[in-house]
Amino acid sequence: MSTIRTTEPDPEAQLILHTWRKLFENNYGSELDRSSLYEQDVFGFEIRWELLKDTPLHSIFPNNPKKALELGNQVIREQFQNRNSITRPVIRIVDFDQEFSYFLEDVRTRDRGRLLSFQATVTNLDTPMGWLKKSKHICHDCGVTWSLNQSLARERKRSTICLDCEREYIKQMKESKGKANIPPPTNHITMLVEENVYEDIQYVEITCPSMISKVLHDDDNQVYSYLAVVDDEYVGTLSINQEVTINAWVELDHLPNRDFAMDTRRVFIFKVHSIESKN
Ligand SMILES: [Zn+2]
Repeated sequence: MSTIRTTEPDPEAQLILHTWRKLFENNYGSELDRSSLYEQDVFGFEIRWELLKDTPLHSIFPNNPKKALELGNQVIREQFQNRNSITRPVIRIVDFDQEFSYFLEDVRTRDRGRLLSFQATVTNLDTPMGWLKKSKHICHDCGVTWSLNQSLARERKRSTICLDCEREYIKQMKESKGKANIPPPTNHITMLVEENVYEDIQYVEITCPSMISKVLHDDDNQVYSYLAVVDDEYVGTLSINQEVTINAWVELDHLPNRDFAMDTRRVFIFKVHSIESKN
């Protein structure tokens, strides 16, 4: 029998979990009750930014959006599971305030890590693909399993030591003044491939609608296109020339066609959190 390593949420995490629970129960009770009828694999659960305003999430979210969303997704998954839904919900916050609004053409490296709201026109679409989001590993000495969060378009992180075996070995070494009865932890760890978590993604190219209108009035202007990546239920739903509002994280990525591995140049990549269609 394998055991699963767990950790207790810190006080801020507990506050975030509690806030999301209250927010869902107070505002989305009837939507949640319908969740058992959903048949799709992934359901984007749209939440208006306004609802976060009177809660602690109003100040926590802008400073730590990833943590707030990760815990919110955990809460909404529990809510769906409690209602026997087979669908995996994903929180999509929409209708952000004006203070999140930004122009694609104004983005610079200083904006890295910010979640911003952009008007965008879709100019190109890539073939949908998948990526390894979370890998699962097992220690064959003690049987414990754990997951590693991977990063998109980076080398896969490996797991080379079992923290449980290591902790036990250090404890015994301390107690026995360096004469532990057990051997040092081995690297007898493998990936449980069939339990790896993959996610659907699609790279899309977008441009700023204001750049297009400038070009129409002045031949000298250039239209730049920017790379964005959408995931889960958004994959395969956009079309070329579609105008959308995208709420996305500004991140930096390697040049797609770099000539050497350690190239320091970076391109912007917009990691899309939510999409609002105009029609
Ligand atoms: Zn172990």
